[in-house]
Amino acid sequence: MSQTLLFPAPENPILPIDGSDLWFPVRRIFCVGRNYAAHAAEMGNEVDREAPFYFNKSAHTLCPSGRAIPYPTETQDCHYEMEFVVALDKEAAQVSKEKAMGAVFGYGCGIDLTRRDLQGQAKEKRRPWDIGKDFENAAILAALTPKAQFGEIGAQRIWLDHNGARVQDADLSDMVWSVPEIIAHLSRFYTLLPGDLIMTGTPAGVGPISPDSKLEGLVDGCVPVQVSFTPLT
Ligand code: MN
Repeated sequence: MSQTLLFPAPENPILPIDGSDLWFPVRRIFCVGRNYAAHAAEMGNEVDREAPFYFNKSAHTLCPSGRAIPYPTETQDCHYEMEFVVALDKEAAQVSKEKAMGAVFGYGCGIDLTRRDLQGQAKEKRRPWDIGKDFENAAILAALTPKAQFGEIGAQRIWLDHNGARVQDADLSDMVWSVPEIIAHLSRFYTLLPGDLIMTGTPAGVGPISPDSKLEGLVDGCVPVQVSFTPLT
């Protein structure tokens, strides 16, 4: 029996791969909270040394790098958060940190766009963060770089320029939880699958954008991420 869809199925988002004609099909986007001590401190929090914590963005919030997008609705305090993104192309369930890197395809640059005012209200009312984190164009992602091309994760620099001024500047060794630790921990709660992305948290220096902002960020060894905003008309 043929199955006729009521309306066309939404296309799954895809990301380009640096140096390849292949595209990476995106499945889920996991995000790590408070993974740089200096950022946790600027937000008035301490890093939880017991375990990392997560929130998710729908894959359909993906905005490919290079676009001009509208300033998000219903916020007066939308923030940039520059992040190192890990892309998986193998299954990982209950994986040890020693084996976790076997699931990694490669890495990329991403911006976790955050309606900070709505996130703050949610925190205050002990409500979920979704409305502050999971909205249209909230995951701005650049092309991926295969892990062999990137090399070992070490002290690569991670930075973001807002309208040409450097606002975030750290290195990957500042992460509280390493990439294998994050994958191992996350794989206890989810069966990680090919296409899953992990945004690994932001360094200090987050701040508000305005409706005419331009952002450009880079993790050394990856493809830069860029976005500009257009005022709502
Ligand atoms: Mn973030």
